[in-house]
Amino acid sequence: MKKLALHWQIILGMVLGVVFALIMAKFEWGSSFITDWIKPFGTIFINLLKLIAVPLILASLIKGVSDLKDISKLSKMGGRTIGLYIFTTVIAVSIGLLVVNFIKPGSSITEATRTELVESYKGDADSKIAAAEKQKNAGPLQALEDIVPSNIFNAASDNGNMLQVIFFAIIFGIGLILIPEEKAQPVKLFFDSFNEVILKLIDLIMLFAPYGVFALLAALVVESPSTDLFAALGWYAFCVVLGLLLMMLVYTILVFLFTKKSPLFFLNGIAPAQLLGFSTSSSAATLPVTMERVEEHLGVEEEVTSFVLPIGATINMDGTSLYQAVAAVFIAQTFGMDLSFGVQLGIIATATLASIGSAAVPGAGMVMLVIVLAQAGIPEAGLALIFAVDRPLDMCRTTVNVTGDAAVSMIVAKSVGKLGEPHVRNWDDNYPKK
Ligand code: ASP
Repeated sequence: MKKLALHWQIILGMVLGVVFALIMAKFEWGSSFITDWIKPFGTIFINLLKLIAVPLILASLIKGVSDLKDISKLSKMGGRTIGLYIFTTVIAVSIGLLVVNFIKPGSSITEATRTELVESYKGDADSKIAAAEKQKNAGPLQALEDIVPSNIFNAASDNGNMLQVIFFAIIFGIGLILIPEEKAQPVKLFFDSFNEVILKLIDLIMLFAPYGVFALLAALVVESPSTDLFAALGWYAFCVVLGLLLMMLVYTILVFLFTKKSPLFFLNGIAPAQLLGFSTSSSAATLPVTMERVEEHLGVEEEVTSFVLPIGATINMDGTSLYQAVAAVFIAQTFGMDLSFGVQLGIIATATLASIGSAAVPGAGMVMLVIVLAQAGIPEAGLALIFAVDRPLDMCRTTVNVTGDAAVSMIVAKSVGKLGEPHVRNWDDNYPKK
């Protein structure tokens, strides 16, 4: 029998996880059984993915940069990458604003529902506001300062410091380019092999993916809040999801225009990473798989993936910025505020920056939303309004974040002549082996 393709295995795991949790919820002991005996496997799966993120970035980026041979190539690729990331983020925010202004989901919320939502989630909202407070107090160049680590071991010991690790790997790679070839060779060979080992580990971890997502989704179902409030936020959630779907369309069009690769080819290749983004709500945890899929199934050469994708996972969050725009305007609408055109333009700028500043972990987009709200003069307490549906929307926006990184890496690869044919190392026999 032909083995089921990986993305189908993952989808099956997700569906079975939801069904299993719904059945278990019928029993009095069902929810605690899932929390005690099933959820830990989901956590283990996410930990495994995060475990290899830092070594993967180090090894593949050092190898990628040193393979470039000269630094002008690096700056060319860097300029295009950052330019495209900002471009797609601005498109995403604009789509979000168009959708939310057109549908006006805030006007369907009654006074009573608003009070109920604010009361129910006040505590949760306060903790997000407190987390955002720290970021708000930072000086204008703080973000730049944070990129340069003072100690590489400290940086590498915290998954939240991805940009610092990227910075170190890039300058280390540049150092390797600049020293004589015979001196660089042993170090390069070391990182080459190191990289191969990590890629092998990703293969092994992915064997566990269908079970991991089963556990993650089952735990999510038993832990989700009441469905009544969900319904009240239906139009808001609809706007976010519609915007995200439009953004997906934009990616497939951009990929087609620039690389002539069909939407089916693109989506098929990236599907397992999208599904993991959806199940884990974390672009950082998904990164190892995104890198593998883009390289092996979309044909982007490692020199490009190793540079474009880790940076993308940290700064390019189109789904997050779109969600922030919709959420900000929705909250304003619920409070009966009419936002002027100028304020909405301001939202484009702040949501773009806020998404760049959001960490690639679950719920981070909501923390940075506080800053967008403050800038636009919208009450921060409104955060409580959207709490009930934040997790499912986080899953959807993370999927878009991951897809955006993949799309940009294909376009950058094409522009520097590094887009080839898919070449699968193993575990998935959909494509011919090398
Ligand atoms: N969870 C998102 C990500 O990791 C960030 C966010 O929007 O909360 O990409």
